[in-house]
Amino acid sequence: MSGSLDRCVAPHTPSTGSRDPARHSRLPRRAPRTAPKKVPVYFRCTRAGNRLLHVTLTISDRPGSLRSTLAALPKDGVNLLAINITNVSGKPEALAHVFAEIAPPVSSDTLEGLLGAVPEVLHVRIQEDVDCRLIDDSYPLQLLETGRGLLFSAPAFVEAWDYLRDSMGSGGAVLLCMFGEHLGRQFADDIVGAVGRDFLRSNLAYAMRFWTSMGWGMVDLRHADLAAGRITVRVLENFECGGERTSAVPRSQFVRGMLIGLFSSILEAPMTCQETACLAQGRSYCEFVLERSPPKSPEASMLPGG
Ligand SMILES: [Zn+2]
Repeated sequence: MSGSLDRCVAPHTPSTGSRDPARHSRLPRRAPRTAPKKVPVYFRCTRAGNRLLHVTLTISDRPGSLRSTLAALPKDGVNLLAINITNVSGKPEALAHVFAEIAPPVSSDTLEGLLGAVPEVLHVRIQEDVDCRLIDDSYPLQLLETGRGLLFSAPAFVEAWDYLRDSMGSGGAVLLCMFGEHLGRQFADDIVGAVGRDFLRSNLAYAMRFWTSMGWGMVDLRHADLAAGRITVRVLENFECGGERTSAVPRSQFVRGMLIGLFSSILEAPMTCQETACLAQGRSYCEFVLERSPPKSPEASMLPGG
């Protein structure tokens, strides 16, 4: 066996709990704080008689444009619910999605007239609710600069993985790791495309916040010695191992694979990864130790840890 399959077979070695890599690290040890972020896709009126609006504005992409635009809104009768600004690639324009609940006498015609009169506003489009319910159908969803993104609820996503494990046993676990490795490599490309490889390597702890930004769990880079090819990553609230899941051995396969792919790409060398602590084993986090793969025989690649 070779390549991805090597690293994904016989996944885990239980934690010995004997060494805390962060003790030898100068990286910050404090766990990241939570600050929930909602991706607004659905709204309901708070009061009968009110209306919900999705206002899509094309505005000049220059400082002060959004402030001038929002200043045109009436002070009374308009409650802003969410605002999202997107750069329009290749043009000196920005796209603003404004979600608002309005109360009489303010109407969508009122807002269209006020906003259309703002010099920085190039185009106004307003969608209204249906029976006081509004769905944001803006499309496509873009993550970073690389193209389409997809949203799934974490429970539905992980239940699909659970089904794969239950129906295919250890083969399903290996597949999960291989899926993860592929996505991890893609994720590395996304990060490099966003911040550049030099920034990524010299600010690795900070760049790992991209992981957190995707909602996959809060990442705490505990130790990183890129020259030696040894990295320890702690993931709080790891979506793959949380909930009611319990396991006699560390459970994470998809995330473990993602870390293999991510750091193999960053270090431009094949990596192995062991989950040395796991939420599903009663720990308060999952922790992973990655090491540069040593040259090995096909037989050795079958050993735990890949
Ligand atoms: Zn875990």
